[in-house]
Amino acid sequence: MAITWEPVWELVTVEHEGMRIRVLRDKETGLLACPICLTETVKKKGRKAADEGSFFFDVQSLIAHLTTHAS
Ligand SMILES: [Zn+2]
Repeated sequence: MAITWEPVWELVTVEHEGMRIRVLRDKETGLLACPICLTETVKKKGRKAADEGSFFFDVQSLIAHLTTHAS
């Protein structure tokens, strides 16, 4: 049996320690997408690749990941 995931993204604002970030969240799973990874993937591979990238279940993990882009 094949397992497929077709994310349905909605743009949301999340807040963490006074920081507000606009990110895409999948309506069904609640997964948050790293905006930097997702933008890069879509640029390289097109919108069909919008399920490739880095996804997180909580804001803290997303923030921790985002800081790696800055280093
Ligand atoms: Zn990323």
